[in-house]
Amino acid sequence: MKNRLMACAALALLTVAASAQPLPAYDLLLRGGHVIDPRNRINHVMDVAIKDGKIARVAPGLSPGDAIKIIDARGLYVTPGLIDLHVHVYNGTGEKGSYAGDLSVPPDGFTFRSGVTTVVDAGCAGWRNFEDFKDRIIDRSRTRVLAMLNIVGNGMRGGKWEQDQADMDGEATAKMAQRYPGVVVGIKAAHYNGPEWKPIDEAVIAGTKANLPVMVDFGSDKPERPIYDLLNTKLRPGDIYTHVYSGLRQEQDPASKGPSKGLVDGRGRGVYFDTGTGGGSFKFMLAIPMIKQGFKPDSLSTDLHTGSMNSATKDILNVASKFMTIGMTLNEVIAGMTSNPARQIQREDLGNLSPGAVADVAVISIQKGRFGYTDMLNTKVAGTQRLVAELTIKDGKIVYDLNGLESLPWDAPPGNVKLDSRWTSFPRQDPTLGVTAR
Ligand SMILES: [Zn+2]
Repeated sequence: MKNRLMACAALALLTVAASAQPLPAYDLLLRGGHVIDPRNRINHVMDVAIKDGKIARVAPGLSPGDAIKIIDARGLYVTPGLIDLHVHVYNGTGEKGSYAGDLSVPPDGFTFRSGVTTVVDAGCAGWRNFEDFKDRIIDRSRTRVLAMLNIVGNGMRGGKWEQDQADMDGEATAKMAQRYPGVVVGIKAAHYNGPEWKPIDEAVIAGTKANLPVMVDFGSDKPERPIYDLLNTKLRPGDIYTHVYSGLRQEQDPASKGPSKGLVDGRGRGVYFDTGTGGGSFKFMLAIPMIKQGFKPDSLSTDLHTGSMNSATKDILNVASKFMTIGMTLNEVIAGMTSNPARQIQREDLGNLSPGAVADVAVISIQKGRFGYTDMLNTKVAGTQRLVAELTIKDGKIVYDLNGLESLPWDAPPGNVKLDSRWTSFPRQDPTLGVTAR
């Protein structure tokens, strides 16, 4: 059947090439996959049609004759391109021991291969170095890179800068955020070790002025600034608490092992909770009882950086598989990587498959077998399934294809290369050789 579909696709190509007829209605048709689009409450088998980089239609039984290219997605899940709400990608400055440097990773090396099409850099840069970050990374990446500005003007360059209260300026931060609407999507306060509320207060000033959410990594646990007050008097509804299962700042009620009162009341007034599992921010001894008691995260993010890329976090689908193993449904983890983070950063144009939306799509398989998932203490939970990115589409272009779903058999008759470039933009260029292979 698969071969027949591919042969059909090849035949369709030849037909289109031979005639001067108008192009078919769709560039690309993903056929027969199980579509999960939480924003549109879709959770069943459907076809997804793409035209000119946008979602054209999502419906069962779309005609293969209406598409230039057909991909057989039967047995796979088709979701909006994933959004990783918390990553560190200000790579390439050469600065040692700095998230505005060596501790960050280049986004394209980590995103498409796990179904991610959009990342949110969580405060590597502040208002002083954001434009350098934009020039080096945001404007040069295939991944859609959005950013939260650090409330520290110098960003996450290390302790000397991040503890400097004099460089925490809500007004200057808001001004830079307003210069790049839709790209700067939040304000970050992080890593502060002092007893003062200054970084939180200034971040809320910036967030209020620029109409953006504040994401908080609450730094050291200090009795002078309790988590209850952060979540119930300092932050606004719509602000985001990350590293929710770290256990480093009284997230867990010591008696019930469920969420502490601050988290429950904070959620009640509209604060969001993000995983940001990172290198040292996720423990099963918190997550398992808290989720059992109903306290699931709003968003599943990695806190991707050099310290988490090869440890317990690995990548976003490993994080999602882990959360499925401890009590979340597939639909819930997909929502936590699509519609929910899109809402949190006020980019509801992303993270859904509505007709007219940008065609960012992840095609995912579920492998069954014996798997192990770990945490920051290197304790383990055994699992029976793992999510795997099969195919990733960004802006209607195929940017990752694990098993050659879109490829024709090697001995198929030659297709029309010009038409082919409408739907795929595999990075086959090698500038060092001065040739473009296709
Ligand atoms: Zn982080």
